[in-house]
Parts: sequence; C-alpha cells; structure tokens
Amino acid sequence: MIHFFCPSCWRVISENIIICPYCHYDLRKFNTLGYDDKLILSLRHPVKEIRRLIIFIIGLKKLKKAVAEFERMIEGEDDPIILLEIVKALVKINSKEAREILDKMRSHRFQIISRYIERIECLPIKEFYDKTIIFNNRYTC
Ligand SMILES: [Zn+2]
Repeated sequence: MIHFFCPSCWRVISENIIICPYCHYDLRKFNTLGYDDKLILSLRHPVKEIRRLIIFIIGLKKLKKAVAEFERMIEGEDDPIILLEIVKALVKINSKEAREILDKMRSHRFQIISRYIERIECLPIKEFYDKTIIFNNRYTC
C-alpha cells in the first residue's frame, strides 16, 4: 500500500487531495517549487535519518536559503546527531548568517557541538572541508 504525505506537515493524506486537511497546504504549489525549495521543505520530514540526509545534501549544495530553517530547527532539536549535522552544513554554507548561528552555538549545552565548533577553529584552512572556508577569521591554533 502506498502512503501519500503532505510535503508541508508530513501527515498521511489521500492520493488526490489538493489542500492538506491538516495544515491547509496547497499541494499544487509543491509541484511549482524548485529542487532546493523541496529540499528545504523536506527538513521537516518525521524520519530522523531522512532529515539527516537532507541536511547533509543541503550542506553539499551550500544552500544559503536553508540557513533560516536550520536556525528554526536548532531551537527545538534535542538530538545531538541532527544538531551536529546542521553544524557541519552551516560550516559548509559559511555565509554571514551561518557563521552567526555557529557563533551562538559555541556555548551549546551539548559538548559534542561546542567541541566540534572549537575544533574546526583549530584546523588550518586547507584541511577544513574546502579551501574557500574562512571561519570568522578566528584560527586560534
Ligand atoms: Zn499538511
């Protein structure tokens, strides 16, 4: 049996529905979205492993428009593995907004997060993901 999901709230819906009965998302709108916007919507997927994969892909694509959604996700996320994947994606994106979020996460309650951010500052630029990343110009090692 095939399940159909609303791409906005990710609840199971009937096949030929146009407006999601739960969140009122217009599914016709989904078909007009580009790949990047569909990826960003998928960050709300209920399966954690899928979310993690989407975060990874967004990081590879250095998708700046996903940064606001990452910021929203960080607020409510309790899973350190998901948070770490977001941190890695923000490092790859490396926009001003991404660096501001990373800066705020420097004192995160999860040590895996704060130590990761601390560690990347110690790496020489060339060893760090790619040669274009400059992390707040703060290389302390
Ligand atoms: Zn919905």
